[in-house]
Amino acid sequence: MHYVSHLEGAIDGTVLPFGQLANLHNGRPIWVRYHLDRIRDAVTPADIARRPPSLWRYRELLPLPLDVEPVTLGEGMTPLLPCPRLGKELGLSRLLVKDESQLPTGSFKSRGQTACVSMAKWLGVTRVALPTAGNAGGAAAAYAARAGMECYIFMPADTPVVNQFEAHLYGAKAYRVNGLINDCGKIVKDGAERMGWFDLSTLKEPYRIEGKKTMGLELAEQLGWTLPDVIFYPTGGGTGLVGMWKAFQELLELGWIAKDTKLPRFVSVQAEGCAPIVTAFDKGERFADLFPNAKTVASGLRVPVAVGDFMILDAIRASGGLAATGREDAIGPWMRRASTAEGIGICPETAVCFDVLERLVKDGTVGRDESVVVFNTGAAPKYLEALPAELTSLDKDHIDWAALGG
Ligand SMILES: *Cc1c(COP(=O)(O)O)cnc(C)c1O
Repeated sequence: MHYVSHLEGAIDGTVLPFGQLANLHNGRPIWVRYHLDRIRDAVTPADIARRPPSLWRYRELLPLPLDVEPVTLGEGMTPLLPCPRLGKELGLSRLLVKDESQLPTGSFKSRGQTACVSMAKWLGVTRVALPTAGNAGGAAAAYAARAGMECYIFMPADTPVVNQFEAHLYGAKAYRVNGLINDCGKIVKDGAERMGWFDLSTLKEPYRIEGKKTMGLELAEQLGWTLPDVIFYPTGGGTGLVGMWKAFQELLELGWIAKDTKLPRFVSVQAEGCAPIVTAFDKGERFADLFPNAKTVASGLRVPVAVGDFMILDAIRASGGLAATGREDAIGPWMRRASTAEGIGICPETAVCFDVLERLVKDGTVGRDESVVVFNTGAAPKYLEALPAELTSLDKDHIDWAALGG
């Protein structure tokens, strides 16, 4: 029992069957489509409000059959936190942070992994593999462990040390590769058949988007089935942005948000050291070129080629939004400034968002009375490289109280 009608090639609309393993279609991602009319008859927002606070509360809008147990660590329903102090500093009256750092494995990658690992398990997969330069590996390793699956992870040697550690911690077969993320991707592609791996790479299977889509569903539910004016989203592979836009279309069609709802404008944020989507957006193009020599401490944004580039760019433009870069040298200062202002540990990817937000409020692109939601996509303590703690040492026998400001 499920409400999926079919799968659909995103590049050409080809209808594809549901219920068997799928990766790409014509080298591009695949959408999941639902019988929304049947979902409208089967469940209401009031029913959902009575369910446990996990993203699986949107069960009918997710692909896993209703009688199949998901592979879950209790992910979802992250807090949507008002940030009046930081808002005031930026000149905004309604600033909210959706704090995804509280999710299992400390990033919103767990939303995607609960969905794609659940589906892979249901479809009989026992071995998964993926390339990663950041949080995806730890999340995949944890959910694979939860599912009792084998997991192979390939990481460039400069992957943050905590991400290397967590892949190992959850028992994945994790390898450090002397190459870039695309070299790691090639290992997974080349080994898929020989090693019997199912490829869990970003957007290379249809279900990670469906997990990430729940950010949009939660946002709407938490705002009483309304939506904010502007969403700031740190964009790497773009799964979350594409997923949220899909969620909003589905909510409109279900009638769970009002027909005349003005959908939020997306501000897709990248770091200046890796900004393929911003470059394509500025040139008016639908497909992005490889971004050469990608380098940023915001590891979630270090995606020089996104297989779903056209889906990201289509969503940004349809929303009336834009793509913009933040400064690399502003990342550390913004992490500390935003975290200090509100007590929310802000990750480097989100620090880049605040750098852009400040600029766009100043130039009037974002109105001072607009409601703005910024996604805090990961847990700051995972990024030892981005913000080294510079603490002053004390000699326990000679405490200078005056110097402490006492
Ligand atoms: C992966 C990641 C991103 C980028 O997410 P996409 O949905 O792939 O664009 C942003 N921030 C963090 C912390 C991440 O781990």
